[in-house]
Amino acid sequence: MDFREFHEFRVCTFHEPGINSSDIEDLFKYWNDELSLYKLRARPVRVIEINRPGFTGFDIMQFLYNQRLDEGCDRLLYLKGRKVSDLFYEVFSLGVLFGIGIKVEMQGAVDSRTHTRGYIKAKYISTIQLIFTSPKSTLVHEGYHLLGCGHQLFMEACYKKIQTLKKLNEDPNKEEGFFPSVSSDGKEFIDRKQVQRGISN
Ligand SMILES: [Zn+2]
Repeated sequence: MDFREFHEFRVCTFHEPGINSSDIEDLFKYWNDELSLYKLRARPVRVIEINRPGFTGFDIMQFLYNQRLDEGCDRLLYLKGRKVSDLFYEVFSLGVLFGIGIKVEMQGAVDSRTHTRGYIKAKYISTIQLIFTSPKSTLVHEGYHLLGCGHQLFMEACYKKIQTLKKLNEDPNKEEGFFPSVSSDGKEFIDRKQVQRGISN
């Protein structure tokens, strides 16, 4: 498959205290290994340390919805750290996992309206979590959502989404310096204003 021109997109990154720049570097390095398959590269920019906006993933997403996608940002990412209070929640979620056999996606999330904002759990409280997943593989997974992909079992559909984005990126009407996105129902965003409207709808 042809993924057209190489392109670098900018990820404005917020992180919880306790996550340092080498953690961030490691995560992006791993993600970029995956992205190189599509001639893409993610660059963390405007890295800002900020306390977790709330306890749940929902609170974090709300915080991200409230941030504007400024010039210079193509995507917004929050890197969640770990706290002792997370332990109960994690033990509970493992219980849910074993109890009903469904893996709830609690390692991270991406907004489905525009696929421009997401968070991942970038540190784990216990090694038991690592049996199932790791922050790096979570970033790769959520990273696919940031490129418009769903949770599909077959990568074929996802490759097509990425091709769509790269084609949109060459659209003459596209906002200069913005890397396009798509919603989960196929709405295309070629400028930040459209994204802003998409988020508030
Ligand atoms: Zn997913």
